[in-house]
Amino acid sequence: MGGRKHEAGTQSKVVCQMCNLEGHIASKCPWVYTKCKKATCNGIMKLMISLTKNNYERKFLKYQHSICGSFQWLSDAVIKPREQKEVHQV
Ligand SMILES: [Zn+2]
Ligand SMILES: [Zn+2]
Repeated sequence: MGGRKHEAGTQSKVVCQMCNLEGHIASKCPWVYTKCKKATCNGIMKLMISLTKNNYERKFLKYQHSICGSFQWLSDAVIKPREQKEVHQV
């Protein structure tokens, strides 16, 4: 019958230690290095962790070299990768 593989129950939910999202492990995290959103830019965004008081341990994506200065909170990138809403909620 169907070609669906049924895997044994060894694979429980994994949570990535890099981005805290479920479904992959840290070494396979797609958010560690992402391409810059700007079409004209070939830069790489790197996942970093904020350690400021207001956003302690909040993850964000930052341009590796400060050429274009792109910045995005990981939560924004994950939820709405296309729309770029600029909402400031603290
Ligand atoms: Zn991840
Ligand atoms: Zn860029």
